[in-house]
Formats: sequence, C-alpha cells, structure tokens
Amino acid sequence: MDAIAAAQVLSEIGYLLRQDPKEVYRARAFSAAAWALALERPDLDALHKANKLTSIEGVGEGIAKVLAGLVESGQSSYLERLRAETGQPARDDESTIDLSAYQGDLHSHTDWSDGRATMLEMARGAKALGYRYLGVTDHSPRIKVVNGLDAERLLAQSRLREQVEKEVGIALLQGIEVDILEDGSLDLPDQVLEILDIVVASPHVKLRQDPVAMTERMVRAVNNPNVDVIGHPTGRRPGSREGASYDFERVFREAAGTGVALEIDCDPARMDLSPEHARLALELGCNFSLDADAHAPAEFAYVPMGAWMARRAGIPMDRILNFKPLEALTMIAK
Ligand SMILES: [Zn+2]
Ligand SMILES: [Zn+2]
Repeated sequence: MDAIAAAQVLSEIGYLLRQDPKEVYRARAFSAAAWALALERPDLDALHKANKLTSIEGVGEGIAKVLAGLVESGQSSYLERLRAETGQPARDDESTIDLSAYQGDLHSHTDWSDGRATMLEMARGAKALGYRYLGVTDHSPRIKVVNGLDAERLLAQSRLREQVEKEVGIALLQGIEVDILEDGSLDLPDQVLEILDIVVASPHVKLRQDPVAMTERMVRAVNNPNVDVIGHPTGRRPGSREGASYDFERVFREAAGTGVALEIDCDPARMDLSPEHARLALELGCNFSLDADAHAPAEFAYVPMGAWMARRAGIPMDRILNFKPLEALTMIAK
C-alpha cells in the first residue's frame, strides 16, 4: 500500500468523521495523519513489518491499527463501516486520478496576505513537487484581517512575481482570491481583475444569507467574465461551520455555461466542494480546479491526500484544470 493511497483513505475517514460533531477531534487526528503520510511518504509495508507504524507523525495506536489493516488487506473495514453509517458507500463509477500527471495548482497564498511563507518559498515548494505553474492568489482588500491586496499592492506583487519566476523556474500566475460580496459583485474593480492571469472568486462572509439571495449572489459571480474559478464554493468548514445553501443546480449550470471552473478545495478543514456536490456539478457540465489553497509549502500535500474527492465524484481528469499544461489553460489568456 503506497503512502498516498493510504493518505487518501485516512483523509476520507477524517471527512466522514467530521459529519458527526462529537467526532471532530478524532476527525482532525485522521486528517493530520493523512497529511503526514502525504508529506513524508513513508514505506508503510516496511514500517508495518517492523511494528513501527506509530513512528509516523500523528499516528497513534488507533490510526496505526487502521494502517495495519490497509497494509495487510489493501482495504479498511473502518472506512467501509463509516461509509455505510453515513450513507456514502463506495460507487462503481468512480474515476481514476493519476497524480503524477499533476501540472500545477491554481490557488495559493503568500505572506502578502495570510500565507505563512514568502512567494519565493511557495514557488520553490511547488517546483520541488514538479509543478509547472502556481497560481498566486492572495486575498482581496475586503478581508482586512489578512491584509488583502488592493490594486497598488497587486502591482507591487507582480514585480516580485517576475523576479521569483525567473529565479525558481516555474510559471507563477498573477492572481487574486477575490471576495464575492453580498450582492454578488466582486471586491475589486473589473479593470483590475481583467489584467490578472487568474481570478478565484470565493464566498467568505455572510454565508448564512437567505438561499434565494445567495443563489443570485453566486449566479452574478459566475457571470463576471473575469472570474476563472469559484473558490471553495460553499465556504463550509465540516464539523464547525455549515456552508452556504443555494440553488446548486442553477449556479452550477450557469458556471458550466460561462466556463467558470468550480474548486475542490482539498484543505481538510474545508473539503469544498463535497464529493456529492462535485458529482452534481460534473453532471451539469462543469470543469474543476483541484487545489490545496496552500498557505505554506507543506500544505501543497493537501491535494494528494484529498484527491479521493474528485475520484469519488467520478470526475475524469480531462475535466480538471490542474492536469492540463499551462498552454491549454485558455482562461489564462482570457
Ligand atoms: Zn478562501
Ligand atoms: Zn484561499
């Protein structure tokens, strides 16, 4: 059993556990162990043979038992039980996701807003993973607590971007994670958004808006011609914050029509879109962006651990932007 496959099993267990508020701590423990596996990629067979699975960061006796079962049988009876209990059984129409074909990530942060690493560190981290490109999408001004970027700071950031790009040898897409305001307008003027390589528009506040108003808000956002991706489309935080509720079918249909991709944000605290919503979006014709929403280089590992969500949703790789080479990302030029 390779470490990434095991990380995805632990990640899914964490996801299913989060649906029970009483299990939130256990859920976090499984997510943390999944992260450690995705980062360190230990030899699980060797560790199991040596009875040393608990030497992996964040793996205690309970999780070690799940891993031992995985190594021995390739399956987890615990996961099967949780799937049955939560009414989310495995399906026979899941897709295959080949992470070695992964070209880049479209949503990340630096210390220009709330990231914990410099652009140089983020670029090096992405390069070390073999990524060809990275979307640098810090927050827009509305999010004051995180020092969101206005037009002036974006311009300054773009100068740094050029330097870092040359130094590291990776394509950095100058972008923004722009807030979708309550009325569906965006937190930066169109003249600013249209010169950026990539615009991720995300709902962050007022998520409990009435579903009718929330639907209009999201429809307006996906119809802004500068928007490329809707970031974590419900804003949920499983186990702690319910996401926005709206007419998903209508919004996803509009997104399919305007060519705006929907994000599967693999941050274990978000996992948004959920596999169920992603499946609906797939059926309605949407494309996807499978992102880490990384705030530090280590968080790029969220994608390999969270890729099971795209698999469960049955999304073929040709519908996921990150598996496309940069030249094929038509939105970059739009
Ligand atoms: Zn966000
Ligand atoms: Zn973000």
